[in-house]
Amino acid sequence: MTDDTCPTCRHYQALREQAKQAGDYSKATDYEVLRRRHPTHTVHIPSQPGGGRAA
Ligand SMILES: [Zn+2]
Repeated sequence: MTDDTCPTCRHYQALREQAKQAGDYSKATDYEVLRRRHPTHTVHIPSQPGGGRAA
C-alpha cells in the first residue's frame, strides 16, 4: 500500500471516498485523477511523460 503523506492527496482521497459512498462514481474518478496529477507526485509517476504541466 502506498499511503501518501501528502495532505492534498489525502484530501482528494477522502473526497473520492465520500463520492463513492454517495454513489457518485464519476466524481470519485475525477478526484482520483486529480490526486494522480498532483504536481508533487509527477516525479513518482513516470507514467506521464510530461504532458500535464498547465503553467
Ligand atoms: Zn500530493
